[in-house]
Amino acid sequence: MYHSVDHFREDPHLVTVSPPRFERQMAWLRTRGLRGVGVAELLDARAAGRERGLVGLTFDDGYADFATRALPVLVRYGFGATAFIVSGRTGTYNAWDDGPRKPLMTDEQLRTVAAAGIEIASHGRHHVSLPETDDTELREELEESRARLEEVVEGPVTGFAFPYGHATEREVEAARAAGYDYACHIRPDEASRHALPRAYVGDRDGPLRMRAKLLRHELRSRSRV
Ligand SMILES: [Zn+2]
Repeated sequence: MYHSVDHFREDPHLVTVSPPRFERQMAWLRTRGLRGVGVAELLDARAAGRERGLVGLTFDDGYADFATRALPVLVRYGFGATAFIVSGRTGTYNAWDDGPRKPLMTDEQLRTVAAAGIEIASHGRHHVSLPETDDTELREELEESRARLEEVVEGPVTGFAFPYGHATEREVEAARAAGYDYACHIRPDEASRHALPRAYVGDRDGPLRMRAKLLRHELRSRSRV
């Protein structure tokens, strides 16, 4: 689970990985015989019994640096990924965050990224913590974000990631009921197709920590979904 890939001075919420570090992390995956893919591709491969050697790469929030910094590296390595987009904020900045302002991808950039083979998925409309919403707002966050993103990329949007990784049973069930094929959580109490666990990767993660995280994630994910 990544967010932003960019040079930085301050990063209070630890959401940014520097471009050289990101490049080394991708190289590390390749050295281990792993290939980065989007979540939809990973789940399809799992269903077909051929997930070996694949690792899901996700990028939350839709930062513009995904298009300018992360994508060129991914393309060079032949990797895919899923970008979870805040549908009501494209072309603006991360107004929900009290950390440094970061620009978000425009609709045009989303189309470019999608054309490069990146899976575009939803991260809600406004990046609100869904357990705090009423039923109407919850449904709108789930359904309207998908409808808008499908319009932008002119294709199906089948995945969702819960903002802040906040989701109780109610939100997990709502994502399923809204017709999403899968949803990403961070550390769900109970993992499922609509509460997929993810491992945080940060700028401090060199080879040893990457290895530890990969092993821990494999243990967490095993035989659950
Ligand atoms: Zn987010």
